[in-house]
Order: sequence, then C-alpha cells, then structure tokens
Amino acid sequence: MTDHPIIVIGAGIVGMCTACALLRRGHAVTIIDRAGPGEATSKGNAGGIAVTEVVPLSTPGTIWRVPSWLFDPLGPLSIRWSYLPKLTPWLWRFWRAGTPDRVAAQAAALADLLAPSYADYDPLLEAAGIRDILFRRGSMTVYESEASLAKDTFGWELRRRHGITVEPLSAADIREREPALAPIFRCGMLMPEWSHVADPYRVVTALADWFRSEGGIIETGQVTGFEFDNGKPHSVRTDDGRSLPFARAVVAAGAWSKPLAAQLGSAVPLETERGYNTTLPEPGITLNGMITLGDHKFVFTPMAMGLRIGGAVELAGLDAPPNYGRAKAMLKIAERYLPGLNTADGTEWMGFRPSLPDSLPVVGQSPVHHNIHYAFGHGHLGLTEGATTGRVIADLIEGNDPGFDVRPFRVDRF
Ligand SMILES: Cc1cc2nc3c(=O)[nH]c(=O)nc-3n(C[C@H](O)[C@H](O)[C@H](O)COP(=O)(O)OP(=O)(O)OC[C@H]3O[C@@H](n4cnc5c(N)ncnc54)[C@H](O)[C@@H]3O)c2cc1C
Repeated sequence: MTDHPIIVIGAGIVGMCTACALLRRGHAVTIIDRAGPGEATSKGNAGGIAVTEVVPLSTPGTIWRVPSWLFDPLGPLSIRWSYLPKLTPWLWRFWRAGTPDRVAAQAAALADLLAPSYADYDPLLEAAGIRDILFRRGSMTVYESEASLAKDTFGWELRRRHGITVEPLSAADIREREPALAPIFRCGMLMPEWSHVADPYRVVTALADWFRSEGGIIETGQVTGFEFDNGKPHSVRTDDGRSLPFARAVVAAGAWSKPLAAQLGSAVPLETERGYNTTLPEPGITLNGMITLGDHKFVFTPMAMGLRIGGAVELAGLDAPPNYGRAKAMLKIAERYLPGLNTADGTEWMGFRPSLPDSLPVVGQSPVHHNIHYAFGHGHLGLTEGATTGRVIADLIEGNDPGFDVRPFRVDRF
C-alpha cells in the first residue's frame, strides 16, 4: 500500500456517498469531478427515497406496453430514432432481462440493496447536519381506472412478495390524503416506507461540505484516463494535463463511466435513460407527499424550492440536445390533475440516468485490477441506493462482509 489517497471519480450522489463512507473510516480520500459536487444527474432528480422499488424495468409484460408508450406523444417513453442503431444491443439485453427467472433474481438483488438504505443514509445525513431534509411521508401511486391499476399487478405483487407494505386506496382515501388532486383518480396504492428529500442537490452539497471539513479533498477536472505501470493502474490523468496518483480508485462517474471502465479492461453495456422535469417555484397548490401517476409514469414531488413535476424516459444517448418538449408534455398533463396549478416561472431540467439493461447497478471490485472498484449504473434509483453503495464499497475495500450477496452487481455479469 502507498501513501496515496483513494480517488473517487465523480461527485454525484453515488461518488459523494462513497467518498464520505471511506473518509468516515479514516481513509485519505480525494474526489474528482469535472463540474462540481452534484452538478449532473444528482442535481435535479425527483428526490424519492424509493426503498420499495424492487421491480426491475424490464418485466415479462413490459415489452407489450412499449409500442403504446412510444406512439403516444405525451407518453412515458421516447426514442430518438437516429440513435436506434447504437441502442439496439442494449434494448436486446433489456428485453432478455425481462424473463420470469431473471426478474425474480434481479428483484431479490434490488431488495438486498434497498433494504439498508435508511440505515446507511442516517449517519451521513446526521454528519452533514441535514437529517431534516428527509420527509418520511410515504408515496401514493394513483390510477384513473381499475383497468390501469390491473396493468401494474405484476409489480405490486412482486413488491408484496418481498415483504413491502402496499396498501390499496379508494378514491375517497386519495382525496383525503391529497385534497389538491382533481377528483378523477379511482384507486391507488400507498407505500408508507417510501420517503423523499426536500432537495437532492442539497444532499450532495451538504455531504461535500462535511467531506471538506473533515479533510477530504475535492478536485475539479475531467478524468480522461489512467496511467499504468506493468499493467497496473496507479494514477488518473486529467484533461488539463495533471496526473493524480492513487492507492485505489473508485469509478463513480454515473452515465459517463463506460469509457473509464473500458480503459480498465471492463466492457459494460451502460446506456442513459434521460429524464425531464419542471420545478414550479409558486405552484399555488400544496401536496403532502410524493405522488406517482400510474397511468403516465411520472411524479409530483413537493420540495423546498417548489413542486417538481416529471420523470419519463428518453433513449437518445449522451450527446443529443435536450428536448424540453418532454417536460412541457408532462406539465400539460399535470395541469389536468392539479386544478389551480400555477405553471409560471418553472425551471426545466434534464438528467442522464446511468442505466444497465438489468436495472441493477455495478457495485464491486474490478476483476482485472484489484485496486479499482466500480459504483455506477444506478438508473432510476441512484439517490435511493447512494448511501448503501458507498458503504458497500467501503466494506469491500476493507475486506468486510457487506451483509448481503453483492455478486449480482459485479461488472463482468454481462
Ligand atoms: C428525471 C429523473 C428523476 C429521478 N428521480 C429519482 C428518484 O426519485 N429517486 C432516486 O433514487 N433516483 C432518481 N433518479 C436517478 C438518480 O438521479 C441517478 O441514479 C443518480 O443521480 C446517479 O448518480 P451518480 O452519482 O451515479 O451520477 P451523477 O449524478 O450523474 O454524477 C456523476 C458525476 O461524474 C462526473 N463525471 C462524469 N465523467 C467524468 C470524468 N470523466 N471526469 C470527472 N468527472 C466526471 C459528472 O460531472 C457528475 O458529477 C432520477 C433521475 C432522473 C433523470
């Protein structure tokens, strides 16, 4: 072992939680990001601590719902058709991940990863002085018809099989919990274990402040690659010509991790599922908790800076310009469901979910280089899974048992 630090590449929620977990255990840690803590996908997400979401995206029924989603201009899924050739191998793997056996295995792995979320976040939020950022108010999914609810039966049953509390709601229950919703929802499901944060960006920046205050170093720079000695990586290279030596490195660069892993000898089918939302500073209505629209698959989150409305998936890669028509489409639908909604002065945002086709992240040691660990690919659940990912990486680096089987998350599973 050298005197060099552990370098974490990427200061999103996953990298920041990892850096903090390592620092808390006494390691010297440097985190490097080309922008700054939380400036990418972790900045504007929906803020859900979605500990109940054990259902992978690709399930036996998903594929049959895709055409109707794609051809609905206000639907939850869109593909930039020019990107289709590049996307096809990922889509093929995504489809194959949806067999009953695989879904059962992925759900079990997700359940393991999600179960310790609160226990792992607790000390981090406490250290950063932001425990009050977490609202443990549950979350409702609401449907306009029993038929819509029936389409999601597979997912609700799968959650129940994993011991997750799911409470059916009548139209009257929904009205009572959220009087601001238009009275058009016939039924719903409540997941009391879910929670949300007042501001996901603040979670990362508060952790970054704590990290700095405890001696952690935050560098700004784009990592372009690695330097090797006898085939073993020992330094990261940056675009401004620096070389930063490390004892170990953790790749936590979100949707941009693929080329870094490739340089380290691991090919991963990482794609991005782009998502959009609008945050309304003065929405003119009040919601008590997070709400998912079961018919449209996007969410309302009441946050410190206003009401955030959005979600959806756009498959268009990392380079295509944003299409904020997606955010506008969701806002238009929201106006129907939230009478009196004031849509003035909204801030539109797009983020790049880092997604593997089996809905599981990569969390673990490189099989090629023992001083490299990976922590990326958290898709729709990076905020939720950040703290546990960080703690697991710290356990693995120290040779401790992380408390559950982490083999489903290995980088060479594809
Ligand atoms: C619309 C939307 C809603 C969402 N809602 C939720 C939700 O409710 N709950 C939930 O759990 N998750 C949610 N997510 C998912 C969540 O936001 C992501 O999974 C999570 O932010 C990923 O975190 P990350 O740290 O892996 O990536 P990022 O936050 O993208 O961080 C990666 C960092 O790496 C840096 N980087 C990249 N390449 C390099 C390089 N070469 N050199 C240096 N730095 C580099 C980037 O600058 C960036 O800061 C949502 C996502 C979207 C888009």
